[in-house]
Amino acid sequence: MDMEQPLPEAPTAPQMPEKQMIDPHGRAVTYLRVSVTDRCDFRCVYCMSEHMNFLPKPDLLTLEELDRVCSAFVAKGVRKLRLTGGEPLVRRDVMTLIRTLGRHLETGALDELTLTTNGSQLARHAGDLYAAGVRRINVSLDTLDEPLFQQITRWGRLPQVLDGIAAATRAGLKVKINTVALKGVNEAEIPALVEWAHGQGHDLTLIETMPMGDIDGDRTDQYLPLSQVRHSLAQRWTLDDLAERTGGPARYVRVAETGGKLGFITPLTHNFCESCNRVRLTCTGTLYMCLGQDDAADLRAPLRASQDDGLLHTAIDEAITRKPRGHDFIIDRDHNRPAVARHMSLTGG
Ligand code: SAM
Ligand code: SF4
Repeated sequence: MDMEQPLPEAPTAPQMPEKQMIDPHGRAVTYLRVSVTDRCDFRCVYCMSEHMNFLPKPDLLTLEELDRVCSAFVAKGVRKLRLTGGEPLVRRDVMTLIRTLGRHLETGALDELTLTTNGSQLARHAGDLYAAGVRRINVSLDTLDEPLFQQITRWGRLPQVLDGIAAATRAGLKVKINTVALKGVNEAEIPALVEWAHGQGHDLTLIETMPMGDIDGDRTDQYLPLSQVRHSLAQRWTLDDLAERTGGPARYVRVAETGGKLGFITPLTHNFCESCNRVRLTCTGTLYMCLGQDDAADLRAPLRASQDDGLLHTAIDEAITRKPRGHDFIIDRDHNRPAVARHMSLTGG
């Protein structure tokens, strides 16, 4: 059982960033993604092997420590926090953390608190998420076909996820659907998924599989270049490019026929690193300055060494000076091994 400490009272004074974090390539770091657990109630084939070894619980940051480290980043100019995992909503008492982090929205120090979820636990948390200040969430959904859903997620149940999405919408949350494009698996269903999502008022973003962590199968079998998907969607629909950029790897179009927004996350066919504004924290307090590189900084030791945040701030500053220019993901027959050994569920995608 997790022994979580109560979180601190929310301070009410406005918090101004001490200073911006600027990396050696001149990019401001304004976005932190935090994996709050490496555990998950699904075992998606491209993400995990069926029999994963999860981290020992004492290695995990407590909710109080997660709050401290997130708040340190907010004090240093992070404007957007995304909680992810593993499955963030399976972490015990995660709503306590989300509620406490919501104080930074109230003070105006943070523009957005959001999460990426598989949707399985959304039905019971949607109302609380809205109450905590969350307004938008990403829900991962690769197919609307029940047997295929089970095949892809191994342990997931489609109706539970669809109920979760409906509950989120009722609670007032804007839902964006994330779909990993898998060659010969959900490839033929992509237009139907886009139509469904846009029909429900959700934007949808397609993601290419990334070579992260050992899985049970062969990644070259799953890899579907989105340039190819886009080309075939353009035969069916009018795709109008949108100027919108998020500082991330997504490019967006408006589908004229459905009126909805469609995103393409193409780490392999496009390099997106020049505008990167983000860093990633694992649930053990390791900070990765790039999703596709192994260099990392340990923030847990400075966090645990003192109740004062001075050491933590110094460790963050030092880490930002090491943010690399970009990643080197490649998937082809000659590079059929993970570019980085860790799984996406550790850094959260
Ligand atoms: N469990 C949550 C979920 O599934 O949304 C959050 C964590 S999950 C690791 C975050 C996103 O990463 C999901 O949209 C998932 O589909 C995607 N993902 C996982 N492994 C991936 C991989 N190897 N390549 C590309 N996307 C991946
Ligand atoms: Fe779990 Fe998300 Fe990975 Fe699927 S993609 S196994 S839901 S962490």
